[in-house]
Amino acid sequence: MKEKDLRESLVARCRDLEKFGLNQGTAGNLSIRLDDTMLITPSAVPYDQLVPEMIASMPLNGEYGAWTGPLPPSSEWRIHLDILKVRSDVGALIHTHSLYATTLSMLRKPILAVHYMIAAFGGPTIRCTDYAPFGTKELSDLALAGLEDRMGVLLGSHGMIVLGTTLDEAMWRAVELETLAKMFYLASSIGTPAILDDEEIARIVERFKTYGYKPPKERAGRKPPKEKSALRVKTKARAG
Ligand SMILES: [Zn+2]
Repeated sequence: MKEKDLRESLVARCRDLEKFGLNQGTAGNLSIRLDDTMLITPSAVPYDQLVPEMIASMPLNGEYGAWTGPLPPSSEWRIHLDILKVRSDVGALIHTHSLYATTLSMLRKPILAVHYMIAAFGGPTIRCTDYAPFGTKELSDLALAGLEDRMGVLLGSHGMIVLGTTLDEAMWRAVELETLAKMFYLASSIGTPAILDDEEIARIVERFKTYGYKPPKERAGRKPPKEKSALRVKTKARAG
């Protein structure tokens, strides 16, 4: 994709976060890899005022923290930059303070294998890190460690991070993580949920390599209109 398209997709997915109730205020931030740079949402701009030209650009391998753009990058740029630098399997990141994921993070509770969809995150748990202040290198280091062999993590008393090879895939995981957190919360509030064993989750992880999320263009017989994400298509189909 061209830079212009990537900037537009970042703005569109920001609005999706609001539409799916996954963001609180101006807290969320998104990034995407473009060759040896990172495009990232700016600091403290409400999503309804965000336009593609406001997206900041940062070098992945140049001066650490250097940026270009009309506005400074999100205060959480370290998390985004540090992950994209070392995780070659990652093309995009989403960080939000979604309600149920953040609620569990306040209890320092990892999400357990209460549902097989946890396999979409690469293993039998979605870890929860300790607390560190926002925007710090300490928080970025905790996030990176919590994401080892995983595509999602809870940040203690803060929120969540999800990864994707593409921004649409990261968006899919943001919805799935918040849904898992909500289901875990609800099941735990009325009893003790059964936990699927590690071997079963390992089998589902393998199956997801061929049956998991597919970008719209890879799905047979489906050609969604331009700029409509898989999620939008899904929602429309359900509503109809
Ligand atoms: Zn945050």
